[in-house]
Amino acid sequence: MATPSVVPPLFDLLEDLLYVPALDWCVDATVSVPRAFISHAHTDHFARHGEGHCSFETALLLQSSRSRPDRLLTHPLGRPVRAGEITFTLLPAGHILGSAQLFLEGGGTTALYAGDVRPSGSRTAPPAAVPRADLLIVEGTYAEARYDHTPAAKAEEQAVEFVRRCVRQEHFPVFVTMGRAGKALDLLMALGEAGLRGVLHAPIHRAAECYTRAGIPVPPAAPWTPDQPPEGDYLVVTAASLETVRRRLPVPSCRTAFLSGWAAEGGTEFDAYIAWSDHADFEELLEFVERVDPREVWTFADGGKFAAELNRRGRPAQSLDEG
Ligand SMILES: [Zn+2]
Repeated sequence: MATPSVVPPLFDLLEDLLYVPALDWCVDATVSVPRAFISHAHTDHFARHGEGHCSFETALLLQSSRSRPDRLLTHPLGRPVRAGEITFTLLPAGHILGSAQLFLEGGGTTALYAGDVRPSGSRTAPPAAVPRADLLIVEGTYAEARYDHTPAAKAEEQAVEFVRRCVRQEHFPVFVTMGRAGKALDLLMALGEAGLRGVLHAPIHRAAECYTRAGIPVPPAAPWTPDQPPEGDYLVVTAASLETVRRRLPVPSCRTAFLSGWAAEGGTEFDAYIAWSDHADFEELLEFVERVDPREVWTFADGGKFAAELNRRGRPAQSLDEG
């Protein structure tokens, strides 16, 4: 993709990687690079870099990952940092604990890498900042009208009801999430308020310990040991671990609930689907773009659908996925 003509390259592409020339940072690179900005600790946003720049909370989560960068340098949210010809500021993204947008100012222009963003925030992530910017780089994960996420309070009610229903029918409830951080821990807090005790598969339990170290009041939850009956009212696992857990969960009968924005599609793999997401849904994405009011948008994580939608609406946009 050519460098955009309307703004100087605060962001550019270095081969297939999003890159900040003035800082020599690659952005959310999933291959090892010397220096990277890491917006948050989901595994599709970092690799074993030489040096990773992120928020304090993201660094806490990364420290429990085997594939973390050699060195982590943290920057407080909301504090502008002068670096040569530009100023950079990490801003809250509302996605998961520690998630940050990267706002750049320089050469008379501004650019915002929003990444995975959820404008309303969650129990464990403050709402996203929404600065005006000339260039906006944002995900398009749920950039179709059929993705209409359930509001968090309603999703929490559905989760509590799922557990109650399982208990009535003598099934053991298992919640399945895509990531080990984010709504897995929001779920733990919500069900804790309903008097339910959680049991967490090991990767989520490690994340919970990081949340506690970051000062987030997640309720105590037991780690689950394979082949042992879970010592609590429900279990939370990541989708990647589900088959292993199914084989090694010694309960007479279990039922699964899938917690994800993808749950809006329904399906037959799980017993229940709750469209609870750490991401913006379609309407929230459109509103976010309107509020940032960029002259140009770059999108990713959607095969170009969101860029096409924005172009139809008269907002110049291109997809980084088309590479
Ligand atoms: Zn993410």
